[in-house]
This record gives sequence, C-alpha cells and structure tokens, in this order.
Amino acid sequence: MADCLFCRIVAGEIPATIVKRSDEAIAFRDIDARAPAHVLVIPTEHVAAVRDARGAEGERLLGMLLRFAAEVATELGLDSAGYRIVTNTGKDAGQSVDHLHFHVLGGRKLTWPPG
Ligand code: 5GP
Ligand code: ZN
Repeated sequence: MADCLFCRIVAGEIPATIVKRSDEAIAFRDIDARAPAHVLVIPTEHVAAVRDARGAEGERLLGMLLRFAAEVATELGLDSAGYRIVTNTGKDAGQSVDHLHFHVLGGRKLTWPPG
C-alpha cells in the first residue's frame, strides 16, 4: 500500500535498522524504543492488523510471524532473561500504524499488566 509507513519501509523508501529479513517478514528497530531491545516484526505483504489475518492463510501468516519474532529474540540474546511479544489492535490498544506488527521487547524487567 503506497501510503502505508511500514509498506514503505519494506520497499526501502524509508530507512530502518533491519535486524532480520526473509521473503515474508522483516524485523527492524522501533524508532521510539521503550526497552533496551525493541524490535518490530512485520509481514512484507500489507495486512492491517491481527484481526485481518483470517482463514488458513491468516493462520499460516501469524504462525510464521510468531516464530520469526521468537528467532529475533534468540538472536538478540533475550532467551535466558526473557522478553515480551505483543501486538496492539485498534484504537483502544493504541495501534498507531495500520500494518500488522509484533513488538519484541526485552533487555529490562517488564511490568505487567501493560497500561
Ligand atoms: P503501535 O503503536 O501501532 O503498536 O506501534 C507502532 C510502532 O511503530 C511504535 O512503537 C512507533 O515507535 C513505531 N514507529 C513509528 N514510525 C516509525 C518509523 O518511521 N520507523 C520505525 N523504525 N518505527 C516507527
Ligand atoms: Zn502496509
């Protein structure tokens, strides 16, 4: 989608610090990191949010993205201390970019529940 910020990052039109990529997903550093490790994992194809990943293809996509996020966490050295994977959906959750993304957060003690 031409006017989607994360599609533009996928296309290389907006720079990002990419930490992992495949044909179907990329992971890059959040521009406003809320933890020492804060990476976003997104599909290269535009999907607006987790609620829009439906059916068999949605199931496959979400599984792939979660595995990809777990591999990012491993590569960032977060396995032993732990980390959080979270996705905000819609306005009550504060989703600010309408392209599905999982936040991978770690490197400090995280509070629960989130605000
Ligand atoms: P959300 O609020 O939708 O769950 O998460 C969107 C995230 O995208 C935010 O944490 C925000 O800091 C991040 N973000 C917004 N614009 C950019 C950008 O241009 N580059 C990068 N790397 N991250 C961005
Ligand atoms: Zn997009």
